[in-house]
Amino acid sequence: MEKEVHIHDKTFVPFITAPQLQVRIAELGALINEDLKDKRPLIVGVLNGSAIFMADLLRVIQLPCEIAFIRVSSYSGTESTGTVKNVIGLTEDISGRDVILVEDIIDTGDTAKYLLDDFKSKNPASVRFATLLFKPASLRQEIKPDYVGFEIPPAFVVGYGLDYDGLGRNLADIYQLKS
Ligand code: 5GP
Repeated sequence: MEKEVHIHDKTFVPFITAPQLQVRIAELGALINEDLKDKRPLIVGVLNGSAIFMADLLRVIQLPCEIAFIRVSSYSGTESTGTVKNVIGLTEDISGRDVILVEDIIDTGDTAKYLLDDFKSKNPASVRFATLLFKPASLRQEIKPDYVGFEIPPAFVVGYGLDYDGLGRNLADIYQLKS
């Protein structure tokens, strides 16, 4: 793992290593395999941030499952704009399906709340929420994700799918904004 990374005008320091991510993702996969035993879930990744987490999570899920990707745009720079736009790209009929939404991070919880409300209104059998990262101190919605990789402090992070103004998603490890 490199020491510090520089993206645009900011410096980030090492936070969660690639091996730590894989250990935790294997644990989340085991929980999902158990909870959804005998089901055939539809696993829905929220682009762009969840792409890498989704790929690794899918590899430890041993259930017969289908996958889909959606997009919600709500964030620019290092601070949440607080506005959640539309869900784009869901073509599947989710009525009667067991759905798992997969996100990179829950910060304020606005995106997760919006997605959960939107999905629940479409009559699925169940909706679960998996997030790699969760910042409980930033939360302003009453939501409780079903699967959380790591609870983290409210500092801005990049890497492993998460960007800072478009860059940093391809870093194998997760880095935190240097204070
Ligand atoms: P929320 O709606 O929970 O406030 O924010 C969710 C979205 O904000 C995430 O999907 C992600 O795109 C973005 N976000 C929140 N915190 C961070 C962070 O620390 N780093 C990055 N790169 N994105 C974040």
